[in-house]
Amino acid sequence: MFKAIWLDQADGKTRASVRQLSEADLPAGDTTVRIEYSTLNYKDALAITGRSPVVRKFPMVPGIDCAGTVEATSFPGLQVGDKVVLTGWGHGELHWGGMAEKARVSGERLLKLPAEMSARQAMAVGTAGLTAMLAVLAIERHGSRPENGDVLVTGAGGGVGGFAVAFMSRSGWRVQASSGRPMETERIKRLGASEVLPRSELGSQGKSLQKERWAAVVDSLGSHTLANACAGTRYGGIVAACGLAQGMDFPSSVAPFILRGVHLAGIDSVYASNELRAAAWARIAAQLGGPMLDDLVQEISLEGAVPSSAELIGGGIKGRLVVAMAGSETQARDN
Ligand code: NDP
Repeated sequence: MFKAIWLDQADGKTRASVRQLSEADLPAGDTTVRIEYSTLNYKDALAITGRSPVVRKFPMVPGIDCAGTVEATSFPGLQVGDKVVLTGWGHGELHWGGMAEKARVSGERLLKLPAEMSARQAMAVGTAGLTAMLAVLAIERHGSRPENGDVLVTGAGGGVGGFAVAFMSRSGWRVQASSGRPMETERIKRLGASEVLPRSELGSQGKSLQKERWAAVVDSLGSHTLANACAGTRYGGIVAACGLAQGMDFPSSVAPFILRGVHLAGIDSVYASNELRAAAWARIAAQLGGPMLDDLVQEISLEGAVPSSAELIGGGIKGRLVVAMAGSETQARDN
């Protein structure tokens, strides 16, 4: 038997509880993983609280991210004992996810962890860090380099933005961050930002072409912020669009693209190819260390993930919540 967060519905409302399941309850798949850590992402909190229709099939075990050890497998290329990470692919939405002590999945969705990275570190990074690194790789594929100018990172107080600040700075870029939380300024600077602009500077409607300020942008806000980021990007620069924290809309014009050759790159972590993911995790492993994770991570138990979801939605959580399963290398803080 093992524990899992269990989501079902009654009278159209989502109910979350922690249940004991048996291996026979697990869905079909060629690989069984003993999960050591998961992460409570915003999307998971929406699923657990039922605040948004993230879950497309009930009952559901939430959790878009997990890391652990292969316990049984018939998938070529995987062996019992391999340390693996799983992010995206619809887990926690369409397929049972990582908020459990075990998962059964298709081995083709599992990536072996880089040797220098622990399961806990992988979950401290999670989808947020993977998305940030996919943006870094897109900027590099485009050919933009630190000598071309500064990079702007928006939403720097959040998960994607925080990792983007750290990874871009560790890749040699001078980082201008933007954030709506002045109390986070020192932490964002410790992550690697040279300056932190107020969120309001980019958050409302602006001209479609503005002073050329940035060689590259990592944006997790969308809406006017993305439009202003494109309008202020230098000739031939690139804007990596990762998220929609301000809004899904994109109130811009084609001017930056056709008059300045600005490139708009879409970043998706959920269905990114394994080749891209492997490159991203290898680079993440090489860039971890120092105060980056210590500054970002709080650890909670599986039981704690349910109340923490409401807190996260209410804006009461800072940084990353890593969920430690029983038997993982560190003792979970009991919520
Ligand atoms: P977080 O909640 O950790 O961070 C979002 C940040 O956005 C906040 O910290 C805040 O930054 C800023 N923000 C929040 N609300 C607003 C608002 N109304 N207007 C302007 N800024 C706002 O989320 P994540 O970093 O995990 O995710 C960021 C975005 O990226 C989300 O939209 C998410 O859905 C998306 N995402 C996309 C992925 C992909 O594969 N493309 C994967 C993961 C996430 P600050 O405090 O600095 O002001």
